[in-house]
Amino acid sequence: MQFDEFNLNKALQSALRDQGYEETTRVQTQAIAPALEGRDIIGCAPTGTGKTVAYLLPTLQRLLNEPSQRKNPRVLILVPTRELAVQVAGEAEKLARGTAVRVAAVYGGAGIKAQISLLRRGIDIVVATPGRLLDHMRRRNLSFRDLEVLVLDEADRMLDMGFLPDVELIMRRMPRDRQTMLFSATIPAPVAALARDFQRDPVQIEIDMARPPESIQQAIYPVPKHLKTKLIIAMLDQLGVSSMLLFTRTKQEADIVARHLRESSIAVSCIHGDFSQRERTAALEGFRSGKYRVLVATNVAARGLDVEGISHVVNYDVPDEPEDYVHRIGRTARADAEGDAITLVTPDDEPAVHGIEYLLGHKIERRVLPGFDYDVPAPSWARPSVAALLRQIKGKQSAADRWRSMG
Ligand code: ADP
Ligand code: MG
Repeated sequence: MQFDEFNLNKALQSALRDQGYEETTRVQTQAIAPALEGRDIIGCAPTGTGKTVAYLLPTLQRLLNEPSQRKNPRVLILVPTRELAVQVAGEAEKLARGTAVRVAAVYGGAGIKAQISLLRRGIDIVVATPGRLLDHMRRRNLSFRDLEVLVLDEADRMLDMGFLPDVELIMRRMPRDRQTMLFSATIPAPVAALARDFQRDPVQIEIDMARPPESIQQAIYPVPKHLKTKLIIAMLDQLGVSSMLLFTRTKQEADIVARHLRESSIAVSCIHGDFSQRERTAALEGFRSGKYRVLVATNVAARGLDVEGISHVVNYDVPDEPEDYVHRIGRTARADAEGDAITLVTPDDEPAVHGIEYLLGHKIERRVLPGFDYDVPAPSWARPSVAALLRQIKGKQSAADRWRSMG
């Protein structure tokens, strides 16, 4: 769904545009409409699925559409950690830029005096960790008598960290007539109980772990690092590629790959963070219309990208996070069309590949491109120095550790 289908406040629309958000994520698609109607929500969705915007957007819309002269907070967002408090408050501020909405983050470990003076000045949205908030409530530094919206973010982590009693205490002291939204990556029994006790007929949303559609053919092509671009060019020749979206890890790499393809007379365009929004739109349009056969993109630029009917998605680099792999290859085979997802893998990438296969729950087929000369030696300048080798070994260990910790 597009964000502009929601009839949002102009300031919010432009903030979304500034952030580069166009299409809603799955949890946003399901949560935003009922939340705008004031319904309670219980949303269960894995990390990285965009839960923050799912609750911030409807909440901000309410604040902007029904302004109030009161100084007391109208919204309370409870989060488990100070890092998350800062992050969520930051996102709220970004989305509320250019409006009069005031946001404060309240968490332990930081000076309480500064927080008090901030709260006294009048705040609309308080993002808080439970312990410090109770502190403020006991000292009567703020009143929640005008509270309209209560959000519990990462409720399962609050449980793990032993905050649930504090959370219950806080919730019991909030006005009854309010909207309550609860978001969590999982819903263990005590969290479900919390929802039962404190929510009214909540809309239940469940998004499971992203899975690539069955219609995508996934393949891994092992290849030495220095032959990656050559292999891509050979694939463009041999694999019946009508359109290819190619991901690199870094902007520099994106530029280099795009340049090499261009030098081989391939119609290619490139998007990453260094390009203006206008340039990115132009590149995307050109790719959609078929003017460019290949679009090279960094991970960041590719989030939420909607380009239908791509025949091939290529991971020029193995994504660092297994979830990113699923996001990337989900770009092809929209609406059940056939699509190919190809991942180039060097020996260094094996630990990361294991992580991906673990997430998918199956192995990905290894293939070789017939007739391609895999034995061309690396040019001497491309042979790694001892320092680079050491770096690689270290990188390998940390990737392997990451994988183990996932299991
Ligand atoms: P969660 O809370 O579910 O773990 P976040 O709310 O932190 O996920 O969002 C994960 C990432 O996705 C963030 O970097 C956020 O900026 C980005 N994001 C959220 N919504 C969208 C969207 N509609 N389009 C593109 N990116 C989005
Ligand atoms: Mg979150």
